[in-house]
Amino acid sequence: MVDKVTVSNICMNYHSIKSSTKALENICFSVKDGEFLSIVGPSGCGKSTILNIIAGLLPPSYGHVYIDGELINNVSTKIGYMFQKDQLFDWLTVWDNILLGLKIQHKLTDEKVTTVKQLLKDYNLWNFINHHPSELSGGMRQRVALIRTLALNPDVLLLDEPFSALDYQTRLNISDEIYKILKKQNKTIIMVTHDLSEAISMSNRIIVLSNRPAKVRKEMSINFGPEYDSPLKCREAPKFRLYFNELWEELNSLC
Ligand code: ADP
Ligand code: MG
Repeated sequence: MVDKVTVSNICMNYHSIKSSTKALENICFSVKDGEFLSIVGPSGCGKSTILNIIAGLLPPSYGHVYIDGELINNVSTKIGYMFQKDQLFDWLTVWDNILLGLKIQHKLTDEKVTTVKQLLKDYNLWNFINHHPSELSGGMRQRVALIRTLALNPDVLLLDEPFSALDYQTRLNISDEIYKILKKQNKTIIMVTHDLSEAISMSNRIIVLSNRPAKVRKEMSINFGPEYDSPLKCREAPKFRLYFNELWEELNSLC
């Protein structure tokens, strides 16, 4: 498989008048086409910084990011970014929130509208298109945010702690549902999470970062076998606990 995303030797220093913060040190990794990669690490170590750099929102102090072998130095339409907070606009309806990105990018075609309608029907949101985000549950809002991102048809999706605002049960169900949506569409995914079980149940590979300045401490391949084809099923696999212990030990050794 070819590399979809290559992160090559990224360093990041934040500067202010009073101080300088070294957030990332020589971060290198790559993600294959269709792969699901998770990034875990202590709070404040630099995980969101990595996603912001890959998204082209933040220029790194040193190093490069490539998508399909092309250098990224600006926001790329190949990338979709779902933030920790769903960033829905409360004064717009579900429908207008979803179409906003397409309108901004001048991509609002009849074909796109048909795709969006189908996604809304598939994910049980069709009856809510005229509602405002404040009238929806946390899980529904998260699905609206995902449809809005998917409507732009990005190849690569960046997810920054996408489920952390949800209660435990919703979180398990929504992550299972969203995983199936993304796999069906064969997206390449980079997800930041502090939930080890979430990372293990959803990913093909996990990268563990050190304390700030973040360095890659460990890379772990996850493979449960073909019969475990959803995150909820993976949580039942005998290997789940082994992966969990390995990650737990690695993260605890950082303290
Ligand atoms: P994480 O997502 O792992 O919690 P972040 O990438 O948000 O961590 O931040 C990493 C470090 O960089 C933190 O110490 C944070 O305070 C610092 N940082 C993040 N953004 C900025 C910024 N815009 N200016 C200065 N420092 C920042
Ligand atoms: Mg963060």
